[in-house]
Amino acid sequence: MRLMRLIRLVFLLVIPLVLAPLTQVYAGALQVQSARLWAAPDSTRVVFDVSGPVTHRLFTLKNPDRLVIDLSNAVIDDKLKKTLTRGGIVKDLRSGPRNKKDLRLVLDLKGPVKPRSFVLKPNEQYGHRLVIDLFSAGKAGKSLPKKIRTSNKPTQFRDLVIAIDAGHGGEDSGARGKKGTREKDAVLAIARRLAALVEKEPGMRPVLIRDGDYYIGLRKRIEKARKHRADLFISIHADAFRDRRVQGSSVYVISRRGASSEMARWLATRENAADLVGGVSLDDKDDLLAEVLLDLAQSATLEVSNRVADNVLAEMKRVGKTHKKRVQHAGFVVLKSPDIPSLLIETAFISNPSEEKRLTSSKHQQRVARAIMNGVRSYFVANPPVGTRLAKVNTRKHVIRRGDTLSHIAQRYGVSMTTLRVRNHMRNDRLLVGTVLRIPSQGS
Ligand SMILES: [Zn+2]
Repeated sequence: MRLMRLIRLVFLLVIPLVLAPLTQVYAGALQVQSARLWAAPDSTRVVFDVSGPVTHRLFTLKNPDRLVIDLSNAVIDDKLKKTLTRGGIVKDLRSGPRNKKDLRLVLDLKGPVKPRSFVLKPNEQYGHRLVIDLFSAGKAGKSLPKKIRTSNKPTQFRDLVIAIDAGHGGEDSGARGKKGTREKDAVLAIARRLAALVEKEPGMRPVLIRDGDYYIGLRKRIEKARKHRADLFISIHADAFRDRRVQGSSVYVISRRGASSEMARWLATRENAADLVGGVSLDDKDDLLAEVLLDLAQSATLEVSNRVADNVLAEMKRVGKTHKKRVQHAGFVVLKSPDIPSLLIETAFISNPSEEKRLTSSKHQQRVARAIMNGVRSYFVANPPVGTRLAKVNTRKHVIRRGDTLSHIAQRYGVSMTTLRVRNHMRNDRLLVGTVLRIPSQGS
């Protein structure tokens, strides 16, 4: 009798333990395993890792603002409830079972949103994912810093705008070094340094396309540059290749027809694939039309792109090895602005151990940023677009005489030494007797 009771007890205790996971497996319930959150200035992306392809639907609720995500035949991992990073517009995540086998996730929000969702197939880094994009729909979300230049004086000259695009971001880490360095982090660091240098440059203004760890669609990046009326678009990346010995930087501009080399084609596929990794773009239906228009408008910008790229490549040669001696041509999406000269710089090979190390060094990041700055400056100072402060260069000239110093000349003409250095492409303050200095007008 006692034995029977013991057996029954064992049966009661053990069988459910064995059966519980089994029933789930048999029912084919999906596991929502983990989640990541990426907060961009005007949107928030939540990515759920799921154990398989998921069927879902979502809707929003008001008072208070919530987003409800119903997943068919799914369960949530208990750990996830505690680990979801809150941020952006998301205050909290709640969950509960529904209809016995479904799962309901509720995101408590700080305000109204326009949601968009899609699923991603496994890649090298992640498995199946459900991606939820939350675009701020409230008035607060519309307060994008849109600085429209209002000039009362018709003679006012504008700053040259340099759009700086750090590649990848958020869910899309880009290439990865052996030591774990992520392309998205290294290139953001360089981009920020470059922006700081542009900021200091008289007559120039930077726009950081991405200023944080979040993803922006490739065409959205171009759009943002255009919104700011950028004169130049620079996309910063770090390369990777299966052969770890390969190293050096490369500079790309858009190709007229496809890629100029096998390597370029391979790269173009990889960089463009970022849109599939980081987020599917659904608004590219007008691609065909875009291509046609592109062809017409691009010749002019291509010329400028090429010349800036030549200058930048020359400067990159001073700070490290270059992978290709000439500017490369490839079909990167971010280079496809018909009206903004654009270049893409692969600053180094993150797959090469010594270059990976350099990419994480702040000293080297600064050197790279400075090289890009020098290349950009030398082109635009010599070829300032009409209407920019850089174009407002006075024709005054000063012929260097014995005993002249830069500070004397600066004082005499009432301009800063920096301006003199910039306008005259000076690498140091040494003056050669007999050479001619261009003296810009005051305040330019
Ligand atoms: Zn990249």
